[in-house]
Amino acid sequence: MSRFGILCLCIMLLAFNGNLAGEVASVDSITITTVYDNNPFVEGLVSSWGFACVVQGLERTILFDTGGDGGVLLANMEQLALDPQIVQIVILSHLHGDHTGGLADFLQVNPEVTVYMLESFAEHLEKDVTERGAQLVTVKEPVEICQGVFLTGEMGTAISEQALVLKTSQGLVIITGCAHPGIVDMVKKSQEIGKLPPCLVMGGFHLLGASRPKVREILSQFRELGVAKVSPCHCTGSEAISMFAETYGQGYIQNGTGRVITLER
Ligand SMILES: [Zn+2]
Ligand SMILES: [Zn+2]
Repeated sequence: MSRFGILCLCIMLLAFNGNLAGEVASVDSITITTVYDNNPFVEGLVSSWGFACVVQGLERTILFDTGGDGGVLLANMEQLALDPQIVQIVILSHLHGDHTGGLADFLQVNPEVTVYMLESFAEHLEKDVTERGAQLVTVKEPVEICQGVFLTGEMGTAISEQALVLKTSQGLVIITGCAHPGIVDMVKKSQEIGKLPPCLVMGGFHLLGASRPKVREILSQFRELGVAKVSPCHCTGSEAISMFAETYGQGYIQNGTGRVITLER
């Protein structure tokens, strides 16, 4: 073989290996990175009241909620080497500013996204989305937004909220912003939609200031529902988080800004 032929062969092999490695990583695992939370986890990142996480390894890369401050969101993403341009879908769980405050700044950097929000609060944020050139999709009923990825649709009466549900080989991953409609009801609804046992429930469980008996009741309902792992953060409150940690033991995953959770696809 000529030197040129050998060079071409080497280039082809390198290209093949590169593609293969990339495909295997995206097909086999799902990565959830908490990019915004009031609980610190990784040093050097800013922790601030609110919640946002980036989900990778699905058909589309998702930013779920945007935290309360766009500057903090983007700075944390940069520290975590998460380029905002990789995000294709933005989901807003509910209208509260600690989940939607970073939206405008994020869209300034990457408007090439589809933003999913509940019909009931879309009018408040519609301009932020459309004026920056992003696509807006309003949600009321449960919907599959890409392969194996669902939104619960509108839940709750006082404060409308939706959860993100991922179907994995281990079961359902359920991600909540604040869980205002009640974390147990959100898990139940996710199960109706996903028809698999919940392998992980993560996010804000809205138990700040909740009594110990109330948290114990939720823990027993989680057990009945077959929730295998939990990763509470944001508005769950430190006392309830300790109770989840104590009860779940190995099944408890500490969460906070910078936490990366990797799951089998
Ligand atoms: Zn809230
Ligand atoms: Zn919140």
